[in-house]
Amino acid sequence: MKKETSPASIPDLSKNALTVLEKRYLRRDVKGKSLETPADMFRRVAETIAAPDAVFDKKADLKSLADTFYDMMTSFEFLPNSPTLMNAGRELGQLSACFVLPVGDSMEEIFDAVKYTALIHKSGGGTGFSFSRLRPANDVVSSTTGISSGPLSFMRVFDMATETIKQGGTRRGANMGILRIDHPDVMNFIMCKADQKHLNNFNISVGLTEKFMQAVENDEEYDLLNPRDGKQCGTLNARKVFQRIVKQAWENGEPGIIFLDRLNRDNPTPHIGEIESTNPCGEQPLLPYESCNLGSLNLGKFVKDGSIDWKKMKETVVNAVHFLDNVIEANNYPLQQIHDMTHANRKIGLGVMGWADMLILLGIPYSSPEAVKLGKKVMKFINEEGHLASQELAKKRGSFPNYKGSIFDKKGATPMRNATVTTIAPTGTISIIANSSSGVEPLFAVSYIRTVMDKNVMVEVNPYFEQVAKERGFYSEELMKKIAEHGTVADIPEIPLDVRNVFVTAHDITPNDHIQMQSAFQLYTDNAVSKTVNFPNTATIEDVENAYMLAYQTGCKGVTIYRDGSRDEQVLSTSKKE
Ligand code: ADP
Repeated sequence: MKKETSPASIPDLSKNALTVLEKRYLRRDVKGKSLETPADMFRRVAETIAAPDAVFDKKADLKSLADTFYDMMTSFEFLPNSPTLMNAGRELGQLSACFVLPVGDSMEEIFDAVKYTALIHKSGGGTGFSFSRLRPANDVVSSTTGISSGPLSFMRVFDMATETIKQGGTRRGANMGILRIDHPDVMNFIMCKADQKHLNNFNISVGLTEKFMQAVENDEEYDLLNPRDGKQCGTLNARKVFQRIVKQAWENGEPGIIFLDRLNRDNPTPHIGEIESTNPCGEQPLLPYESCNLGSLNLGKFVKDGSIDWKKMKETVVNAVHFLDNVIEANNYPLQQIHDMTHANRKIGLGVMGWADMLILLGIPYSSPEAVKLGKKVMKFINEEGHLASQELAKKRGSFPNYKGSIFDKKGATPMRNATVTTIAPTGTISIIANSSSGVEPLFAVSYIRTVMDKNVMVEVNPYFEQVAKERGFYSEELMKKIAEHGTVADIPEIPLDVRNVFVTAHDITPNDHIQMQSAFQLYTDNAVSKTVNFPNTATIEDVENAYMLAYQTGCKGVTIYRDGSRDEQVLSTSKKE
């Protein structure tokens, strides 16, 4: 019998969600015909992720656990990262979104890393690298008595490999490239995406140290070090370099910055290694060869009759931690080293999406002090309950194997099953599947056009706005069109003021508001927070500099900024730009 791909059995599945699932997530035959419905997909994922319970408990009720996981996903209260939805219970079986690979200073190590990258991209994962160990361009190569090409030329090899693979039809490749601020090639690195022609499969961030930030504050010189021998090989003025980073970011959004010492201050297993990179979108610092599975609570689903249902949130956190810990077991890793490292630290990254939806449902403007306060409260709750859930799992399943010597061990804290529990992901695609606002971002616009994956274009009107407009009697096709043209409701007088205040968008709020929110969530997140700080096209270089300094002062682990219209292509744009 012909199978219909129908959303009927999942009442909340939106049309856009169905489009995305059909295009990339559902099992298909060689001719591209869907072999499963969205409900089948969630059932496949639920059963595959419930199965590892049998390893820990012979009497485990797998059927009832799979039902719990299925309900949690199909109610869109929780979704795991895309590779889990795509690959669980299928041949590839690779379930993680994020990987970090080491790049050593030898031909063999560099090209091993290229090969590993290819394997990871094929399975839908993203890769992060630090290129800081590579000797600079024009340095000596003793075996050939020639000169080295330097990190930037090797980055192009990774970029080309990514371009060629295109993720085997699942996801386009994504890489993060990091270079330390004290690497001799840092100035070239800062400029390497300036022409917007190269390294299009990379996000780049400069790895800043505390020492460097001190030198910026004191307007001092700092040392450049050759990674080959660790020797000083020049100096630069810290403030000038910082200003160059800022100017470049103002020009076209890159490079971002990450604060390396902060990442390592929160490294739970310093005895195993130093953190030198994050995953592609910056929210997950990892050791070389580590991978991480992410999952997100959809906060809008936890508002009941105008207030937060904390009891339901707690239950969902417990189930989500259980789910993500099982993902580590069910996962089929692309490399033995990754299998071993991931099993030894068992990092998971539970985060949130739908934060803007939650605020809208509670009637709180995103840019208000009340929203920042609530952000802290919500994330503190999720973090604490998540840690408790991980401790409960440790009692039954044992702590993560590298626990001895970890920061928890040194503090004499209760053993944890997972070295980290919380991460705030961008939720770029799973928020479309859940029909929610993404991550902790404000609404991008009340109505906008979205480019998904390659060229798929979708027009969206915020569902909560549509609902309010209908309830309050100001809904009309004409008005929706007008909003689509404006991208914001701030200056449309026919919309009641209280509605305009709540439906603020990324461009209605100041960069400071963006950073305050990032900082609020970072305070209670083990890993990092994915966030884009949006600037209007008219923002000055100084505005960007102030935002970078504010991010540093408020405890953020990194910053990504974007000035509207500053790149040739942008993923999200309001209709009027199309
Ligand atoms: P999703 O919503 O699809 O689960 P996110 O937008 O939350 O994914 O991204 C989470 C992480 O997944 C990113 O930081 C990155 O490591 C990885 N990732 C995202 N998009 C891609 C992609 N196109 N290719 C490879 N990895 C990706």
